[in-house]
Amino acid sequence: MPTLSEIVTIDGPSGAGKSTISRQLAKALGYTYLDTGAMYRAVGLAAQRAGLPLVESVALAALLARLDLNLLAVDGDTGVTLNGEDISAAIRSPEMAMIASRVSALPMVRTYLTELQRRIGAQGAIVAEGRDMGTVVFPGAPHKFFLDASPAERAKRRVLQLRQQGRQVDEPEILAQIIERDQADSARALAPLRPALDAVIVDSSHLDIAGVVALMLGHVKRTGQGAP
Ligand code: C5P
Repeated sequence: MPTLSEIVTIDGPSGAGKSTISRQLAKALGYTYLDTGAMYRAVGLAAQRAGLPLVESVALAALLARLDLNLLAVDGDTGVTLNGEDISAAIRSPEMAMIASRVSALPMVRTYLTELQRRIGAQGAIVAEGRDMGTVVFPGAPHKFFLDASPAERAKRRVLQLRQQGRQVDEPEILAQIIERDQADSARALAPLRPALDAVIVDSSHLDIAGVVALMLGHVKRTGQGAP
């Protein structure tokens, strides 16, 4: 496991504002933003395109073994390529979110991505966003946050975001999907969604993005940049 002197982890349920906040915090610190949800989405898309059922299988292991997955920073956003193809837009649909949640419960997928995430983290200076960054992938990280907000507030934000992307969405349906995905992510046996014991819990229901980023930045600066 890397010795994690400059790793900030941000975990939490979908729609709590993790991506925007992680991106802005990374920028303010001069760190790289690591979007691990995008990795689970990419694996989900690859499995779906290969026509594989979303269960552990020899075929899924073979697919993972030959997966060429790359994350690139594009204008502060995360671009994702799969076997050379830009899949950044394709992975962002509500359908891919549900498929990602399903593949993320499979041990072989988690093992594969945890290893990849630690390899990226070994280079240091990252803000790693996901569900299990502080609990499983980087348990020794010096700065851990768990970002939460009420389901209704999270659904409202997600609807706004999807509409800005030109997608037609129905708020009650998005709320139901958020609740279903949170339950699946929290109840799974492997790396369930929960705060690390040493995480700072931030409820963003009544805070704006700038307020959350300022709070996190202040915490990171106060508690230092971690051991050298
Ligand atoms: O964060 P995002 O919505 O892109 O994540 C999609 C899904 O990927 C989540 O619902 C969760 O099931 C899974 N995930 C995970 N562990 C992570 C990041 C995402 O299980 N570290």
